[in-house]
Order: sequence, then C-alpha cells, then structure tokens
Amino acid sequence: MKKIGSEGMKKHLNHPVFHTIRDIASELNRETYVIGGFVRDLYLERPSKDIDIVTIGSGIELAEKVAKKLGNLKLTVFKNFGTAMFKYRDLEVEFVGARKESYQRHSRKPIVEDGTLEDDQNRRDFTINALALSLNKESYGELLDPFGGIEDIEKQIIRTPLDPLITFSDDPLRMMRAIRFATQLGFHIEETTFEGIINNKERIDIVSGERVADELNKIVMAPRPSIGFKLLERTGLLKILFPELQVMKGVDKVNGRAHKDNFYHTLEVLDRIVPNTDNLWLRWSAILHDIAKPTTKRYDKKTGWTFHNHNFIGEKMIPGIFRRLKLPQNEKLKFVQKMVGLHMRPIVLSEEIVTDSAVRRLLNEAGDDIEDLMTLCEADITSKNPEKVKRYMRNFKVVRRKLKEIEEKDRVRNFQPPVTGEMIMDVFGIGPCKEIGDLKLAIKDAILDGEIPNEYEEAYAYMLAKGKEMGLIPVK
Ligand code: ATP
Repeated sequence: MKKIGSEGMKKHLNHPVFHTIRDIASELNRETYVIGGFVRDLYLERPSKDIDIVTIGSGIELAEKVAKKLGNLKLTVFKNFGTAMFKYRDLEVEFVGARKESYQRHSRKPIVEDGTLEDDQNRRDFTINALALSLNKESYGELLDPFGGIEDIEKQIIRTPLDPLITFSDDPLRMMRAIRFATQLGFHIEETTFEGIINNKERIDIVSGERVADELNKIVMAPRPSIGFKLLERTGLLKILFPELQVMKGVDKVNGRAHKDNFYHTLEVLDRIVPNTDNLWLRWSAILHDIAKPTTKRYDKKTGWTFHNHNFIGEKMIPGIFRRLKLPQNEKLKFVQKMVGLHMRPIVLSEEIVTDSAVRRLLNEAGDDIEDLMTLCEADITSKNPEKVKRYMRNFKVVRRKLKEIEEKDRVRNFQPPVTGEMIMDVFGIGPCKEIGDLKLAIKDAILDGEIPNEYEEAYAYMLAKGKEMGLIPVK
C-alpha cells in the first residue's frame, strides 16, 4: 500500500466542494474536517462518493452556506439529527456538528451533546474509520489520526479505538460492521476486538433486523463472502442470527463413512459463484441451496448418507428464513425459492442421458432464470476429485447445448399451452370443472414430452382426441 503524506492528501482535496467548504469555514471561523469512510478510502485507494464533513458548531448552518455558494443546491436537512446533506455532481456530502455520545443499556441510540473533534473521533467505531483531514486554511490536508488508523490500514487490521467491550456493548451493530469491513477489505480483526465481539454477541438483539440484513447483504456482495460467514460463525453471531446455517457445520460418521461438511461446502459454492454474478439473490440462492440438508439427513446401510428432497424442503424453509432476516417477501424470495427447488435438476440431467423431454421440462419450469440456475449448479460442483469435476463440466456443456437447441426449436421457455381453458369450455360446452385442468395438463405434458409440437393446430386436435377419451363431446 502506498503511504500518502499530507502533501499527497491535498491533491485529493482539490475538488471545488472542499475549497468552498474551506473558504466558508474560514469566514465563519469554524474548525472543519472531512472524516470517516471517505478518508479511509482515500488511503485504501478505493474511490468513494460519500463525503462526511464534521465541524465544531452547527453542521446545518455550514451546509446551508456551502450549498448556497455552490449554486443554490437543494439541501436536505435532518433537524432531529443535526445533519444536512446535498448532492453535488456525483458526490453526496453530509454535514454534522462534532458531537460527544453516551449510551444507555437498552438502546443503540446515543444521547448526543456538542463536542470537540476529539470527542467526535472517540465515537467512531474503528481506528480506520476515525481518520480526519483538516479543511482549515492554515492546516489544509493535514491528517488527524489519534488512534493509529493509518498503521492499522497498513497492517490490514480492524480495531476499535477505545475498549472493545464498551464499543460493542454501546452499539452492537458495530460487531456486524467489524465483520463486514474485514470481509470487504480482507482485513484481520485484532484479537481483543474479536473477543469483544464474542463477549457481546447476545447484544445483537437490540439491533433492528433491517440493519443486520444490510450488513449481511454487504458481506454477501464482497469479493470473498466466505470470510464474513466464517467470522460470524467463530464469534457465535451466526448461531443467533442464522441458526439454519450454523447447524450445517460439522460431519457425522457412521461405520466409518462421513458426509461432507455442508457449511464449508456452502461457503465454497458461494465464493465460486461470485465471479459469475453480481446478483445478490443468486448469491443468496448459493447460501441456501443445501439449507435443508441437516433436516433431511439419513444414513442408509446400503447407499450411505442421503438427503432426500432437501431441495423441496429447502424451498419451503426459505420464506421463514427471509422473514426473520428481514429480507424481501416479494419476487426476490420467489426467485431464491425457485433456484433452491430446482438446483438438483441440471445435475441429475447431466448424470443421465440428456433426453429432449427432460430438457424441455427444465426449460419450462426455470423460464428466464435458466441461465442463473446453470450458474448456480456449476458453482455447486466442488468435488476434490478432478475426474469427477471434469465429467460434470463436460455433461453440463451438453445440457447447455441441448437447452439452446430445444429452446430455439420448441420455444418452451415460459410457454403457455396454445389451447386455453376457455377454448376447452367452449368446444365441449362445459362450465368450470376438474376435467378442464386435466385436459390442459395433458396437452402441456404432450408438448413437453415431444408427442406433439408446440403449435395451435396439433394441440387443438390433441384436445379433441383426449376429450373424447374422457367422455367429452364437442358441441361445435
Ligand atoms: P460504507 O460506505 O462502506 O458503509 P463507511 O465507513 O463510509 O462505509 P458509513 O455507514 O457511511 O460507512 O459511516 C461513515 C462513518 O461514520 C464511518 O466511517 C464511521 O466513522 C462512522 N460510523 C458509522 N456507523 C457507525 C457506528 N455504528 N458506530 C460508530 N461509528 C460509526
């Protein structure tokens, strides 16, 4: 990592926003700094668009004047929090007065008083997040690093500035943030900080589910999400937040036969899917694909360990897990359920002779999500046996080729049978009844099995013949 001195920093404070803040702060005779994540990210050379400005005095007043000077920018003011924010070009700039915080046991919302820059740095969660750069005329660009944050950046360490027991007890969300930063940056959580998390893990209960979900999603979107889940496990947070994933850890042995550790397998699948998708929900599908393995696990003397129907049971478990983790209850949930429910299908297909009919059924059920399903299934091949991996990958190629051929030929992805329920009622002069559903299904099956093509005329003729077999007489 490059070490950037204050001369180097000035270059990064060249943006007109910083110059305007400097000039107005000087007019008001107000100490002002840029602080927190933006400064950390400058040193890490991670471009950041969120700028936090702290000033000794009213943040709102300073923001009003700066926004006016920059061209009467629209200012959003949060009076209750004493903060104000505007957008300027692609930047989001937030102003706050320096503050001192004190906490009560039952809440992560602090009691806030006006404070000094030092007080404000003391309330920050990690040394790397407590860095400030001066925007004052006489010391412009000077770094204020009271807790050795730069050294920690260089050593790649996450550490609380003050006693971790107090820091985490005050605001237990910081435990999730520590693990999230360690995951995003590939940093190590320093020992006493780590122990602080272990000792405060139960305090996570006072954090809202939405906040926890936010952090979890950031972990899932990191370059190697397994780091975060392993840390959650080692600190004991996973057991509290996501017990279904926790119980996947470990192996059972009967008669010397063990199954694989499904926790580590899951994390491997998750890391393997990362380069192939930015879709958060496909990544969640990787986390949840084997979630029902512990409940479906059986030992059979002949076949060894089995996990029958773990895909279907898993699909049913997901709404409950999503509700508890405050993840969405909409089509995202449906998508993850579909992925988990179908995740065995391409693998089974690739083990057998790939028949057109099986491919047509898979295409029809997966619809437009077929590519995502294949991506998940390819990530799921984690065998240590290179021959086996090779064979699966080769067979998947065949499955993919067949999927393409059949979709081009039969267009069964998302298809609806060309004969509708209304037509059936019309032709046979009947009202709504069970036979209509049976006939529709028979037509759909005939198309998917390749007995008839996916065309109106053939489907209509099939309906007449099948209806006749069922004792229905056309009235037209
Ligand atoms: P990211 O943008 O990746 O979430 P960030 O550090 O910029 O990272 P923010 O949530 O925007 O995250 O927080 C900005 C700064 O506010 C942090 O760098 C930190 O100094 C401080 N901060 C945020 N949340 C907390 C907290 N729970 N406890 C203490 N300080 C916090």
